Amino acid sequence: MEISWVRVYQAANSLEAHSLKGMLESEQIEVTLSGESLSAGAGELPMDVVQVCLWVPETQVTRARARLKAYEAAGEVEWQCPDCREWNSGRFEICWQCGGEKP
Ligand SMILES: [Zn+2]
Repeated sequence: MEISWVRVYQAANSLEAHSLKGMLESEQIEVTLSGESLSAGAGELPMDVVQVCLWVPETQVTRARARLKAYEAAGEVEWQCPDCREWNSGRFEICWQCGGEKP
């Protein structure tokens, strides 16, 4: 079956796009980026005006959107507790569930 890709997020810059890509891939969500060729081709553009979009397969859109929503709410990338595997907001320095320290 052919995969249809859905755009789920427009990142502010390439750095954000790559950190989000890593976050989603760690959850076994496939991610592809578009828009990066702009930075390579244009050269003159400052990094922050180059917008990179994240695309995921249609079947993984719901999961991806849920993760991205949590990311936006936290204001930064979440972290997973090494002890209990719980996901925590980037604003927390300790795991809300078991009190374990942020790695
Ligand atoms: Zn924990």
